[in-house]
Amino acid sequence: MNILVINAGSSSLKYQLLDPETGVLKAKGLCERIGIDGKFTYKPAVEGKAPQNAVDIPMPTHSEAIQAVLNALVDPENGVLSSMSEIDAVGHRVVHGGESFAASALITPDMMKAVEACNPLAPLHNPANIIGINACTAVLGEDVPQVAVFDTAFHQTMPEVAYMYAIPYEYYENDKLRRYGFHGTSHRFVSARAAAMLGKPIEELKIITCHLGNGSSICAVQNGKSVDTSMGLTPLAGLPMGTRSGDMDAGVMEYIMNKYDVDMKGMMNILNKKSGVAGVSGVSSDFRDLDAADAAGNHRAALAKQMFCYDVKKYIGSYAAAMGGVDAIVFTAGVGENSPALRTEMTSGLEFMGVAPIDQEKNQLRGSEVDISGEGSQVRVLVIPTNEELMIAMDTAEIVKAL
Ligand code: AMP
Repeated sequence: MNILVINAGSSSLKYQLLDPETGVLKAKGLCERIGIDGKFTYKPAVEGKAPQNAVDIPMPTHSEAIQAVLNALVDPENGVLSSMSEIDAVGHRVVHGGESFAASALITPDMMKAVEACNPLAPLHNPANIIGINACTAVLGEDVPQVAVFDTAFHQTMPEVAYMYAIPYEYYENDKLRRYGFHGTSHRFVSARAAAMLGKPIEELKIITCHLGNGSSICAVQNGKSVDTSMGLTPLAGLPMGTRSGDMDAGVMEYIMNKYDVDMKGMMNILNKKSGVAGVSGVSSDFRDLDAADAAGNHRAALAKQMFCYDVKKYIGSYAAAMGGVDAIVFTAGVGENSPALRTEMTSGLEFMGVAPIDQEKNQLRGSEVDISGEGSQVRVLVIPTNEELMIAMDTAEIVKAL
């Protein structure tokens, strides 16, 4: 089976062609500068086929971008498909499904109205995702089924007590302002893999999944369901991130806005783009740069890393309390998968809750699923590479097979 996975942004579009049954990736790439000039990247995963790297292809709209992807996939010389009819379905990442979508869904004109109704909840992301879906329909026609996979859907199982904000109730009733959470596809994928690694049904497990990348979130997964997560109405909440502040006292906003005459748009720009570890360190949003600066004696780079680890540890403790225990802690995404030093820091001092110091030899391994738990640990500590595209392809295949 061939599933084309699309992640459309406002001026970019990432794609992968995958077989969801074997997990084999056939090709992937990126369209950038859509609506500006257009740069096209294509990486076939088949030997003997030539890649293309940021080549100029005019892309006035997302439709030309999708057409460029399809042209590359069926190219007689370097394509990986003999015709477009070999694409069985398309799976789209959609950021916000609001309260309308607790699972992935077949794309129909009616369901698209419900997706559009979520646009005010994610004004930067959802409209771009919708443009990607419409572009696919325009280029591929109505006969190729398409599925939407929502970042928020996995978290729809959160209980009211976890998702409500302590603000006047009418904002929930009238405007649906509440915690939604994001990275749901990743948390679902790695928690399922954790259960497989532990050889136990996920319905019997309490797992804390730490998706730590440029954007970071933590999720409490009890019996296979998200019961709490650190991001909120928007992906600004929770942990400090590359450039996002994470949680802080809303009074800080009032102070900055008044004293420095910053309007709300400017304030949100500060919190989304100039804060997090980049804001604290003044060095970079990338943890590799922070490591280098820290090694050279930069106090603020060290502090930014410490603040990040401290908050991760606090979430681990609070989610263990929320679930009444924890069987496994999972690290995934750029930082979670690649930083042995931060994993050590984030799990140190947790012996009181059954987490033994992690195995430093296993902690150095890269690129595959590893159990890095220390000897005698009651709580397993796992590193699991995330694969959101594969999860999207698997969901798409499941829905399309049932048609
Ligand atoms: P992601 O958003 O999941 O792609 O993660 C990207 C982030 O992972 C980068 O900004 C880096 O901060 C971090 N990262 C990647 N490789 C490493 C590494 N070897 N050590 C520390 N951080 C890393």
